[in-house]
Amino acid sequence: MMRGNRSGASPLLARLGFGIQSYVRDDGGYTSLAVAVALLVSLTLVFGTAAAQWSMARSADVQEVADAAAMAGENCVAAYSTVAQVLDACVLTMGLTGVIVCGAALVVSAIPPLQAKSAAVMSVGKRILDTRKSFAHSAAQGLQRLEQALPALVMANSASCVSANATGGMNYVGMAVPFPQSSKTDFSFLEDALDGEEMEEDAQELAEASARKDEAHKRAEAAKERAWRADCVDDPRCLRSRVATLTSLGSAFNPSYASPKDWEFEYARVRARNYYGHRYTHEHRANGGVEEMQRSAARKQFYGYAYEAVGRMSCLDTEDAVAMDLDVLPHTTDMVKGTRLYTDAVWPCTSEEEGMVLHCSLDCPGATGPFVGNASLCVIDYGSVRMCLVCRMDARAMGNVADASTNINNGFEHYWRIVVEASKDYERARQDEIAAERDMQEAAEKGRSAFDAAMEMLSVERPKVCPPGAWGCVSVVCRPTSAMVPTELTRAFLSSGRLPAGAAISGAVLAPDEATKGNTVLARAFDGLRSSTGSLTLDLVGSVTSLWGDLLVGYGSAYGNIADAGGRFLNGVEGVFGERVASWLREKLSGLVSSTGFEPADLRLRKPVLVNSQTVLDKAGLSTVGEARTLIQSLPESPEVLVELLRSHVQEMLGTGEFTVAEIPIPGLEGVSIPLTIDLSKIGVTS
Ligand SMILES: [Zn+2]
Repeated sequence: MMRGNRSGASPLLARLGFGIQSYVRDDGGYTSLAVAVALLVSLTLVFGTAAAQWSMARSADVQEVADAAAMAGENCVAAYSTVAQVLDACVLTMGLTGVIVCGAALVVSAIPPLQAKSAAVMSVGKRILDTRKSFAHSAAQGLQRLEQALPALVMANSASCVSANATGGMNYVGMAVPFPQSSKTDFSFLEDALDGEEMEEDAQELAEASARKDEAHKRAEAAKERAWRADCVDDPRCLRSRVATLTSLGSAFNPSYASPKDWEFEYARVRARNYYGHRYTHEHRANGGVEEMQRSAARKQFYGYAYEAVGRMSCLDTEDAVAMDLDVLPHTTDMVKGTRLYTDAVWPCTSEEEGMVLHCSLDCPGATGPFVGNASLCVIDYGSVRMCLVCRMDARAMGNVADASTNINNGFEHYWRIVVEASKDYERARQDEIAAERDMQEAAEKGRSAFDAAMEMLSVERPKVCPPGAWGCVSVVCRPTSAMVPTELTRAFLSSGRLPAGAAISGAVLAPDEATKGNTVLARAFDGLRSSTGSLTLDLVGSVTSLWGDLLVGYGSAYGNIADAGGRFLNGVEGVFGERVASWLREKLSGLVSSTGFEPADLRLRKPVLVNSQTVLDKAGLSTVGEARTLIQSLPESPEVLVELLRSHVQEMLGTGEFTVAEIPIPGLEGVSIPLTIDLSKIGVTS
């Protein structure tokens, strides 16, 4: 009877193997995520297989060999469970990575200056989802195949363990059988319809509206700059320098603004009002005879009118509304006729020989008769008063006041007209911009719903696999003392319902290993990676890969959590500041990642523990004696024959050498994948 290891430190471990190849590089480093992910896989599996050693080292008699056989059998199930957990974690976190990257693309689509780059980000997200889909498909197939082979693996591994305990002519024959005996796992949970199509459509719509906003915004900025220049920058003059030259107004009433950013249309309006108010109160007649007398009188009326008119104008310019009510001042006869300058009865009239005559002033040399009251310029055109042939005050004279200053580039009204025209362009552009932003908000809301739906799809409760052996393994071992063992055993069962001397039965089930809760070794492996994570620039590669690493660790170890990782990634999108729709969207998406409520998965490793075999059989609805009898009857007398038989069975199902359950692609690293491989030679299935 053999107790413990026969040769060296870990032949048992090697024999029980079910080993996954180590992915840690020979030089001992793990500088890339690919290697860290591999570490995750290999560590969990090594923990799983190492757990069996404890019990194996204690086998002393037939009962203990039976115990060891049950543990060895269940250990295959433990390893399988770990493989399934790792693959499920990969599928889920890859889905999260893809959806969060698509979410980042939505946010980028809502940043007008960057919207053109959103398609590239979206395609990274969608490629991850596509990769996930094909990975999930192949993982489901690999797991399915492994589950089919699991009964044979359980039997081969346990028979091998029993046979290994032969020593000094003392032979044992026996093996463990898994319950349920065939798979009860529904693998459809690994495959869903998550593809990001809806998010992509919404992102396109959002990007299109963002592009319109960007274009309108640029138009608005250009119009504003044109107006600011007319107001503040000499070319060759501007409103400000005209005011400085033509009035005594100080800088408090005639300020300068350094850039269009500091400037508003309203400032030009206020400057113009200050200017006309000052010109009105300070108007005085220069030397120049009756012509200057007439021009001064007309100017006074014009300035008074302009002061009032500009006072009534307004500039509304907020984020949500724009209304530019600025207008040019009358500088032609026709324009004068459209204003109160034409209809206000402010002009003194005298009674002359030819009738009532209108003057610019009673100082007019033509005003010789008595004053008969004031009249408006329009009554000249009606014929009820006459224009004075000396001062020639009429609507045309009024139109002349601002004619030159509007039409030549050194007049105040020339620059005012530029401001007014730019304000119309600005108003149109801003209205387009506001409309585009409204469309962006609508598209962003659709994008949020699509993102929400995708997260919901991922947040369904993680299903449990139910492989052969999920309920446990039952082993039967006997010590053949004669060539007639099977018959004798059979008779013994029939008569007493008890196992004969020299035979034993045992059971093992999987129990979570509390010691592996948290899996901090893995967390530390990812720490180094996280420190190298920069912000999300549009070169996504490094960020996406780290995001996946964060999610995988968050999912598996409760070390980080999914909400934090997702939030960090979305916060890394640059250029959001000052963009209302993008900020809104990012906040909503981060909120959805947190509120979807991904609990850290229970990734505690499962290790086999001994139980009463009846516990396992009860679950399968079978009786101990009946099963044991059937099992013992089927055992060949020679352990070597049994082991050989089972090995060839495994070979038939999985082949020899290495069996690759799945290739785990690394999101963000195109063409890089980690094969999750089971080395069949470790359980002796290669001859
Ligand atoms: Zn006159």
